[in-house]
Amino acid sequence: MNHLNRRNFLMNSTQALTAAALAGCKDLNQVAQVLPEDGRVMPVVFLGHGSPMLAIEQSPYSQAWETLGHSLPTPKMVLCISAHWQTPSLQITAMAEPRTIHDFGGFPRQLQEKLYPAPGWPAAAEEIRAGLSSASADLSWGLDHGCWCVLSRIYPEAKIPVLQLSLVDGKNARWHFELGKQLMSLRRRGVLIVGSGNIVHNLRTLKQGPAYDWAEEFDTQVRSSLVNRDDEALIEYQRFGKAASLSVPTDEHYLPMMPILGLRRAEDKLGFFNEGLSSGSISMRSFTLG
Ligand code: ZN
Repeated sequence: MNHLNRRNFLMNSTQALTAAALAGCKDLNQVAQVLPEDGRVMPVVFLGHGSPMLAIEQSPYSQAWETLGHSLPTPKMVLCISAHWQTPSLQITAMAEPRTIHDFGGFPRQLQEKLYPAPGWPAAAEEIRAGLSSASADLSWGLDHGCWCVLSRIYPEAKIPVLQLSLVDGKNARWHFELGKQLMSLRRRGVLIVGSGNIVHNLRTLKQGPAYDWAEEFDTQVRSSLVNRDDEALIEYQRFGKAASLSVPTDEHYLPMMPILGLRRAEDKLGFFNEGLSSGSISMRSFTLG
């Protein structure tokens, strides 16, 4: 290829995209064709999702999700990291029409039959996948209840495309924190990144009445660490001792907060909502950064 032809080749954006991918380019900005920067910086959100019933029941928690939908800048798409999708390696949903997954049992028919028909966006999924250090496209998952139950309140019209990014089995909080950093450019490209889990999540101790002391203690410690920007304390949360081990008996509901923290910029303002503990040992604490 002579010099002139080579230049023409590189000026063709589609081919440049391919060339960048072939060169192993991992800078999302250099390959952004589907999701170009749009002059905004989107906030990022962590949601305590709690019971799937909140998708159909009126409560202060679900009302706060509805309010959030009105206050956020309208995104081009949502990228959701849910507690309920763990895979052996990193995956991103890439189907055009993700199914609504009813990954729960024992709930009323109204919930079992509720659909959230938001579209996917295969081209955007491929662009994001290509920019990550190691991720593959998924065509079998869809939208699990950690994702659609909250989004059905935030964006009830289901018009905004939604993709899910998995948690990775066996990877710790620090790994998921670093994953968030890899997604940073998406904030400038109109993508709303949502982590959906629960900071305190112990299903074995559910009860009526007030929260356990250990649940309140851990939730308060996490709150203070968020306010103080102490990422290290949140990554090494086991150092909080017994309150941590009771509040996070398994880490899948805690981990969705980690990429959100990795996406935090120095100038981001922290805003809490849905502060409260449900059923004794579920923290609904949620926050925006932006
Ligand atoms: Zn859950």
